[in-house]
Amino acid sequence: MIELVVLDVDGTITDQNRILNPEAISCIRTGVEKGIKFSLISGNVIPVMFGLKTFLGINGPVFGENGGIMYYNGNIEKFFDKSGPVKFLEYISKKSSATPYFTNQWRETSAAFSMNSEDKDMISREAEKWNLEIVDSKFTWHIMNRNQNKGYAVGILKKMFNLEWNEILVIGDSDNDNAMFQLPVKKACPFNATDHIKSLSDYVSEKSYGYEIKDAMKEFNIL
Ligand code: CA
Repeated sequence: MIELVVLDVDGTITDQNRILNPEAISCIRTGVEKGIKFSLISGNVIPVMFGLKTFLGINGPVFGENGGIMYYNGNIEKFFDKSGPVKFLEYISKKSSATPYFTNQWRETSAAFSMNSEDKDMISREAEKWNLEIVDSKFTWHIMNRNQNKGYAVGILKKMFNLEWNEILVIGDSDNDNAMFQLPVKKACPFNATDHIKSLSDYVSEKSYGYEIKDAMKEFNIL
């Protein structure tokens, strides 16, 4: 039985323009009332995640920066440091099209940027030399520390709530969800997910951008 549902935000409970899907919110509310724990893990910054938790009534922890930082029970916990990603962004900004993203002022464990796609391979190779990784959330690029990913965050949740892997359902749509889709948890995705995420999923909905939440919750007997 599923005890914890871990949701990506952008493209999973929102549309392409990042507008929240009211049907997805309603499904979350029903699940919470049934005693299921919900958690959000996004590439976004922790003030935004705090807002989402508050206004959507998310009952579990929320993570920002792809799992690098967590808010729960009035506390913020940081699992990684931003100094490497910040220095790397300074470095590649000088030698490529990489442009810092304005939300970096609120980032505490990573850095975000935009770039022309032809620079991707070069920046990716450079990041490796710095022992960092670049990850695409489809909305922006993220410079992450080694092992800083959504899989790491789901591991923290498993321990925190003393769960078995198969009591956790993860739902996500893009490459920054890959690490949590590698875990022996239950996995579902919307139709708009990347082919890679679809190939890792136990359940692929025919619906997209938040409308898959109801399907996925039914599939795993939560609704
Ligand atoms: Ca996403």
